[in-house]
Amino acid sequence: MQLTVDLRSDTVTKPTPGMLEAMWSAKVGDDVLGEDETVNELEQKAAAIFGMEAGLFCPSGTMTNQIAIKCFTQPLDELIADQTAHVYRYEGGGIAFNSAVSTRLLEGYRGIITAEMIEPEINAENIHYPHTSLVVLENTVNKGGGSCYTLRDIEPIAALCKKRGLKLHLDGARIFNALTYTGDKAVDYGKYFNGISVCLSKGLGAPVGSILLADAETIKYARRIRKVMGGGWRQAGFLAAAGIYALDHHVERLKIDHAHARILGEELGKLPWVSNVMSVETNIVLFDTVEPASAVLNKLAAHGIKAGDTAKHRIRFVTHLDVHAEQIEYLVKVLKEM
Ligand SMILES: *Cc1c(COP(=O)(O)O)cnc(C)c1O
Repeated sequence: MQLTVDLRSDTVTKPTPGMLEAMWSAKVGDDVLGEDETVNELEQKAAAIFGMEAGLFCPSGTMTNQIAIKCFTQPLDELIADQTAHVYRYEGGGIAFNSAVSTRLLEGYRGIITAEMIEPEINAENIHYPHTSLVVLENTVNKGGGSCYTLRDIEPIAALCKKRGLKLHLDGARIFNALTYTGDKAVDYGKYFNGISVCLSKGLGAPVGSILLADAETIKYARRIRKVMGGGWRQAGFLAAAGIYALDHHVERLKIDHAHARILGEELGKLPWVSNVMSVETNIVLFDTVEPASAVLNKLAAHGIKAGDTAKHRIRFVTHLDVHAEQIEYLVKVLKEM
């Protein structure tokens, strides 16, 4: 029997019946007026989880990241990030467009950078150089194949930023995957970062939405920036209800996605048509194929399996809450027969 398995991204999940129920029964109001109690609840809940003062619910992770960059920089500044960074590669050039800021890219290992790598790239005070004002980390690293920072890795970076007067922002689109893998506590994150973006629409399975977390003053300004970007929304509580439900019910289960990804990594490693598999930490599996990736993707598609390529010979599988054990079993069988 052929099954459909969609491994293109963890954004493809559909709301569960419980989540839909929570959305239907949400109490809503006009969020631009600050009157949507469900949005307010979500923002306070997420801030408390990460040890931050305040939150701002936004339509996308791109918007939360771009607002954060706007809040933490001035035009003509420069930010530092790894060369794989989502904020640089996949947000449409928004750093330059929204904030008039340049980007200094580092060559990390699977997207992970260190204080030793950052320090020499902070510009000295000199009229020739853009003013370095922000470091952006990503956890997990999407293009690094779901690789993780631990808080021990982050500590020296945060200390360096503090010493040199730089702000530190976390693109935590998949922060709960990182926490699941590392065992670090979410509440400790607030100590190290000026801003944190959290996606509810990735592994957590909400249909829409991300939250920016920061201190109350930053969030007050961020609310202005969201408005000017056209992101001031009204009865958004229907969507916030999905986010609250996701935080309550879909965090614990991320370990299932990780176990599924680990099985796929192990099985792929045994196949003659696979030349390399990146070690699996969370819910993303990156592997290299002997044939061009496009040819392999066509064969997979013929079996109802959707995936994406990230390079000419590289394929990405992402596990999520709509990929169940029976689909993993089916997928492994297809992979072995290919
Ligand atoms: C998905 C993602 C985002 C945000 O993407 P949106 O589609 O705008 O919600 C940000 N950073 C990373 C690392 C991501 O994977």
